[in-house]
Amino acid sequence: MSLFQRTTIALARSPMMGRAMRAMAARSSLARRFVGGADVEAAVQTALRLRAAHGIRASLFYLGEYVADPAAIEHNVAQAIGACDALGRAGLDVHVSVDPTAIGYMDSDARGEDNARRIAAAVSRAARGGQDWMVLDMEDASIRDRTCALHRSLQETGLPVGLTLQARRRRTPEDLTWAIRQRTSLRLVKGAFPDRALDHAGRAGIDQAYLDAASIMLSREARDAGFHPVFGTHDDRLAGAIMTLARERGWPPDGFEFEMLYGVRPDWQLALRGLGYNVRVYLPFGGDWWPYAIRRVGENPRNAWLLARSLTSDGHYFS
Ligand code: FAD
Repeated sequence: MSLFQRTTIALARSPMMGRAMRAMAARSSLARRFVGGADVEAAVQTALRLRAAHGIRASLFYLGEYVADPAAIEHNVAQAIGACDALGRAGLDVHVSVDPTAIGYMDSDARGEDNARRIAAAVSRAARGGQDWMVLDMEDASIRDRTCALHRSLQETGLPVGLTLQARRRRTPEDLTWAIRQRTSLRLVKGAFPDRALDHAGRAGIDQAYLDAASIMLSREARDAGFHPVFGTHDDRLAGAIMTLARERGWPPDGFEFEMLYGVRPDWQLALRGLGYNVRVYLPFGGDWWPYAIRRVGENPRNAWLLARSLTSDGHYFS
């Protein structure tokens, strides 16, 4: 990990920086670039705008992770349920992303599972027949097995629950073998929590693992099961290989999705839409934006300029 990445991780974890930056959220170009709104209404407006102007769909994510305080957990759950209701009223996909550590798993597995069930039930209630899912994000290795178990448990009850898997983990193909036989949505990402003991080595190794997993997700078996593949990446080389694979296997362009983070490579998001592919953005909202946004800077040093001019920017990144 580079010095630059270590510095941004330290900044993300600093409570003092978090408090100071939250206070100036309204004026920060960093928040504007990567966060879809301060509250659910603003986030839904952003989602409506993206859908109307560009045909880009959204998955709403309420900011806040690794939360142990019961009142904060309940607040996070209420925000996720509120997002489902608002998306349904707006006629959009009822699609939310959820961190298990934000909804109770830092307290007890029973509380986490119960809350996940409540949010998935809210998706079901509000759904209008689009791609309506509660997708579980995949966090660090300590919660991985519990996240997979939660996915299975809710899947068995018929709730609309999807899962994120990290290509960098050597174990991912095993989890995929089960998932592709289900009517579920699975988002494949490279993985943001490196662990040398559990991972494929090096960038080339991870990219190859991503393509191997994509090949399983685009199998005939997956298609017959009604499986919904989602490729969560900004990497155009990988996306190009996936498009070729999908074409060769007879998947129509709208049979799967590419998903990217709001504010990251909007040019590429529009280009994929122009080619007829389904594109979704992972759209965070809420006041606790600092750790999330500073991680985006860590992923790409070019974003550091946003920090520098955080008092001067205005407008949105999509016209
Ligand atoms: P990279 O090789 O990192 O990037 C490809 C290209 O995109 C490069 O040109 C790069 O410069 C550019 N790029 C990448 N990030 C940025 C940025 N922030 N700003 C500007 N340009 C950038 N990880 C998890 O571990 N668990 C999750 O649940 C999870 N959910 C995710 C959901 C979605 C929808 C997405 C898109 C990512 C998610 N991630 C998650 C993060 C993911 O694991 C990667 O860390 C991240 O997406 C970067 O990898 P990449 O595939 O985009 O490829």
